[in-house]
Amino acid sequence: MIRFDDILDKIASRFGDKDIAILQKAYVFSAKAHKGQVRRSGEPYLSHPLEVANQLADMKLDRTTLVAGLLHDVLEDTDVTAAEIKEAFGKDVAGLVEGVTKISRVQDVSPEARRAETVRKIILAMTDDLRVIFIKLADRLHNLQTLKFLPEDKQKQIAAETLEIYAPIANRLGMGRIKAELEDLAFRYQEPEEFFRIASLVEPRRKPAEADLKKFRRMLERLMKDNHIPVEVHFRIKRPYSIYRKMRSQRIDFHQVYDFLALRIITDTVKNCYAALGIIHQKWPPLLQRFRDFIAMPKPNLYRALHTTIITEEKRSFEIQIRTREMNELAENGIAAHWKYKDVDPQSLIREDKRLQWLREMVELFREQKNPKEFLKNLKINLIPEEVYVFTPKGRVVSLPNGASALDFAFRIHTEIGLHSAQAKINGKVSPLKTLLKTGDIVEILTSPDKTPSRGWLNFAFTSGARHQLKRWLKQQEKGRTAATGKKARAAGGGKLGLPAGTLVRPARCCAPIKGEPIIGYVTSGKGVTAHALRCSLIAREILVPERMVDISWDQVAREDFQADLLIRSADKPGLLAEVASAVSRLEGNITKAEVETFADKKAQTRLCLTIRDIKHLEAIIKDVSAIKDVLTVERI
Ligand code: MN
Repeated sequence: MIRFDDILDKIASRFGDKDIAILQKAYVFSAKAHKGQVRRSGEPYLSHPLEVANQLADMKLDRTTLVAGLLHDVLEDTDVTAAEIKEAFGKDVAGLVEGVTKISRVQDVSPEARRAETVRKIILAMTDDLRVIFIKLADRLHNLQTLKFLPEDKQKQIAAETLEIYAPIANRLGMGRIKAELEDLAFRYQEPEEFFRIASLVEPRRKPAEADLKKFRRMLERLMKDNHIPVEVHFRIKRPYSIYRKMRSQRIDFHQVYDFLALRIITDTVKNCYAALGIIHQKWPPLLQRFRDFIAMPKPNLYRALHTTIITEEKRSFEIQIRTREMNELAENGIAAHWKYKDVDPQSLIREDKRLQWLREMVELFREQKNPKEFLKNLKINLIPEEVYVFTPKGRVVSLPNGASALDFAFRIHTEIGLHSAQAKINGKVSPLKTLLKTGDIVEILTSPDKTPSRGWLNFAFTSGARHQLKRWLKQQEKGRTAATGKKARAAGGGKLGLPAGTLVRPARCCAPIKGEPIIGYVTSGKGVTAHALRCSLIAREILVPERMVDISWDQVAREDFQADLLIRSADKPGLLAEVASAVSRLEGNITKAEVETFADKKAQTRLCLTIRDIKHLEAIIKDVSAIKDVLTVERI
């Protein structure tokens, strides 16, 4: 049984005396509450919250999470109340413990319904405080480690729930280490025959494989030393569950699993990652189709590394992963790494972190999807690990579930692109929107402002994000109002004007349309006319009534220059703002205001207020600013 002192040793360098004192208090509180209780293993119950807190310490989480980890079962299993926890440890800890307790209190007749309800509760708890999921994952890990003490039907149920819910969530959050442990533990109980079959294939090879790996590691270390690249080299034999998954998904035999033996090189800088790669490729030929640059093009869960598979003189293949220490930390702990810094704003994290896009989609899904069958279907699509990786023409990786079409891709890029997509260009070839995508496809969506969705699109929209947006649009159209607006705006382009030419129109302040954007005129109560962008939220929210809409063209708008606000996300580098400013002025744009905000993770966010001529002018500026090194995203707000 792990001791509390072992945990304290682990965190001593990160935590101050006050933190330690509070953790000690939580430990005593938990020990008292669970006094006399035993686990099925025969161990004192306290061993469980201690293991959970230990796991949370390994994820380098903050004090609040560790305290909540120590207390996570007291509401469920003892007389302690939430009010008492709040009184003793504050509302954050109480909120986390309540969140964890609610998730475990799911009762339902069918296992399917039970799982759906569990996910729903997890998602809701995560939107309150993301840290709930870290405690749940740590809790699940220890329960799996002690699963042999439970009856068989319980074992199967917990294993299935782990593979269907917890491991995929850990994967989505980029938490590679705990995901791998959960999978391997659950796999043994879920598919015992497969597990032991694979184990029997791996076991006789383990000893010679380890000898090979050790020999190869020495060669690598020597090679790197000769080239003055500081490295740490680790090796591993592929895990049973990932062997199983690979054999099944690629329909291959055990001996065709190329990355059975893998080494990981950890070095100091990105530059040295590429240098190490170059040295390795000079010495051993790589299998070209197996080379992946996840540094230049990170996975959607932000995983970064270089992967290559090489063939040695003895015709043996090794996979080599090369990453910096920072990338390694991110690959192991994923989103949990945020809590190493004190200033996490959970709400902005949920809004902005790419790894939480699925969470945002799921929240939408709960709001709209009342039909339990449809809900379950969407749930599975949303949670199963992504299986198709495709690329935008600029090389950005987009992950979609297997079975996704070009239309799904369009909606994933942007709702407006989805709603106006006409055709797709896949690997340079014009293709219909219903085309299914394969890993490696380069996909471009051709849009047309006249194109709008039809009900038939639902037949090949597969992802819940696309289906949700499509249904929303179709529903609005049924109400007729949005459709009328769209038609009017298109007629405006064709010159069929509702107002006599010469009438002057002012741009609306709410949406600040920019010359060249699709607009609609709106007769105000003072009898003037304002121009609203079609994207104006007042139209979608039906605050503007169709009776007062008129067709207008940009010729009627009395305005020479326009305002636009940009949000630029970038690395926090000195001189970056100057570079942005010079890019803007080269294109004759004018900055009226700039605000820079920097964050602890060496990222910065710049808000620019610009004066520009028209939408083309703005697009050109966005394009040039995006091209600046260290700029990550540029978005109009
Ligand atoms: Mn527990």
